[in-house]
Amino acid sequence: MVTASHEEVMETSMEAAWSRVLERLRTEFDDSVFNSWFKPLALVNIEEGCAIMAAPTRFMRNWLEANYADRIRSAWRCENDTVSEIKLIVLSGFTASEGPRPAAGREDKAPNSPQKNHRQNSKSRIIEGQESEFGAPLDPRFTFESFVVGKSNELAYAAARRVAENKDVHFNPLFLHSGVGLGKTHLMHAIAWANREIFPDRRVVYLSAEQFMYQFISSIRYKDTMSFKQKFRSVDLLMIDDLQFIANKQSTQEEFFHTFNALIDHSRQVVISADRSPTDMEGIEERIRSRLGWGLVADIHPTEYELRLGILQQKANKVPEVEISLQVLEFLARRITSNVRELEGALNRMIAHATLIGRPITLEMTQQVLQDLLRANVRRVSIDEIQRKVADYFNIRLADLLSSRRARAVARPRQVAMYLAKKMTSKSLPEIGRQFGGRDHTTVMHAVKRINELRLSDSVLEEDIQHLERMFGT
Ligand code: ADP
Ligand code: MG
Repeated sequence: MVTASHEEVMETSMEAAWSRVLERLRTEFDDSVFNSWFKPLALVNIEEGCAIMAAPTRFMRNWLEANYADRIRSAWRCENDTVSEIKLIVLSGFTASEGPRPAAGREDKAPNSPQKNHRQNSKSRIIEGQESEFGAPLDPRFTFESFVVGKSNELAYAAARRVAENKDVHFNPLFLHSGVGLGKTHLMHAIAWANREIFPDRRVVYLSAEQFMYQFISSIRYKDTMSFKQKFRSVDLLMIDDLQFIANKQSTQEEFFHTFNALIDHSRQVVISADRSPTDMEGIEERIRSRLGWGLVADIHPTEYELRLGILQQKANKVPEVEISLQVLEFLARRITSNVRELEGALNRMIAHATLIGRPITLEMTQQVLQDLLRANVRRVSIDEIQRKVADYFNIRLADLLSSRRARAVARPRQVAMYLAKKMTSKSLPEIGRQFGGRDHTTVMHAVKRINELRLSDSVLEEDIQHLERMFGT
């Protein structure tokens, strides 16, 4: 049974407010406009002052966003002063039984209670369990062919390929994690494309954890959790992107866990991505967290220079009409180290610039056009990032790394993290001490000295540190 008491309690008052908002919009617009655009909307949830409404198609969502967002927002504000913002999302998989229709308006003349009417309509229009309809669309650019492989992502890439090409499950789930813009979403889409091509009959579903949550909540609101469960349990390969989103969201977590277990128990493949490793997922229940790590956990490290250059070359080759010298590409690869998304952004800006002025791109031009980006990309490693990576590397909890526990298994990694913090950031000893659970600067000093000594005498530790330094792309 689904536990959703909170949502259920909220339901009645939300429903009433939503009916009033719809009524207000109905009086403000022509019948045809109202029926085409507002009537097919469904209220998904109200959270933190934001009313989340779902449109059945991307097209409708975009149109509403572009043309009517202000009016919807003010209708909400008039009817319910706890709502100050709105959000429009797409929930494919529910049939817009009264979606945009040129001759709309005819069936609408009945002077019945509008609230009742609305309730019935919403119910029939929400998620009817159509297959393959409920995933998010896939980006055609995100394929294995366009993914450049280097040291930092080779494990994740190999694992993704294996999942895509094999019918038999080898590691379940595959858990991909990394900072932003390093290729998690790209790899997941690539798995879906490749898998569909090799096994056309398999049901592959990709969606973000956020979309999973919205679909779940709306299935509760429209008392349709059975079909929600059914449809998610019937896929062969389920991929959920950015799982960290459901941290601290109790009932969604619970439901995700059931879905996850059901699929794994039936040997269906699950792929998950997040911005951190399972052990570091705070706000996720322990039993879920531990199960997430049962399969293969692959992290994508910050990019190294060769990979960045490879990516730039690949992208530049796709626009042969614009001339970009190797020197410029090398410069960008050296200077833009944050993530691939920014790297691509930089290249795109240069390409746009070159197209506009109709001259080949020079190094001076690059420096000038990208001034702001280059300034922001002086390689900064944060203490937080160091702590997370080190905890991860030594397989201990971040909380333990920051605790006052003196056990060797956590004390040594803590010293390593302090050492790296001193070496790779410009933070002072007291500042570093503060970020390590409020320790004294002498403790940090001692750690730095100790690790310096150990690097000379302890070859295993020396190797660990070299490995860690590589992970930070330095
Ligand atoms: P994440 O999901 O980890 O935040 P994305 O998968 O959205 O990152 O990647 C950000 C951008 O960088 C995308 O346009 C993606 O195609 C590109 N990208 C990331 N890694 C690579 C790679 N190894 N080769 C080619 N493109 C990449
Ligand atoms: Mg992503």
